[in-house]
Amino acid sequence: MVTKSKNDSSLPHQAFIALGSNLGRRKKNITAALGALESTREIEIGAISPLYETDAEGGPEGQPAFINGVVSVRTSLSPERLLSVCQRIESLLGRTRDIQWGPRTIDLDLLAFDDEIASEPELTLPHPMMHERGFVMKPLADIAPNWVHPILQQTAASLLAGLGERDWIHESDE
Ligand code: ADP
Ligand code: MG
Repeated sequence: MVTKSKNDSSLPHQAFIALGSNLGRRKKNITAALGALESTREIEIGAISPLYETDAEGGPEGQPAFINGVVSVRTSLSPERLLSVCQRIESLLGRTRDIQWGPRTIDLDLLAFDDEIASEPELTLPHPMMHERGFVMKPLADIAPNWVHPILQQTAASLLAGLGERDWIHESDE
């Protein structure tokens, strides 16, 4: 029997996770979330995008700007289990769910999992808003420009281009 281990790159599934923080030490929260993902036995971290600072969209007026990035992972978990690992890490890092789209120490969204398409409220794949969000598509296109959206059948690079020009601000050091 072949056992899957973290270091032999044999983990069968490819996924992308979006990371965002606009509360507390934002970059530190993102680094901590990456560390927690990496220390999960069934997850292996691949490429990590640059981090970008963007104004919050939606939610309460005047909330602090976000730092966003995307990480590519390989995993032996199912999509549901991977999402619950993400939610456990969110709680671990002190996220509370009070205001919708409100400030959060950390938000981990499952953007895509192989070519899977799902439309449950608890898990929609690919993430239903990803292709409309520059702060997701920019870092995704940085690390995986040729990734193809399984429903829209367009690459990350072309979906990003469709969102128009924008100045991308690299994360500031806190
Ligand atoms: P948001 O990320 O939209 O600001 P939350 O992180 O609070 O909000 O997530 C709200 C719900 O979205 C979660 O209960 C989760 O089950 C659901 N959800 C559906 N699809 C996904 C996905 N692809 N990634 C993350 N959460 C998802
Ligand atoms: Mg979320």
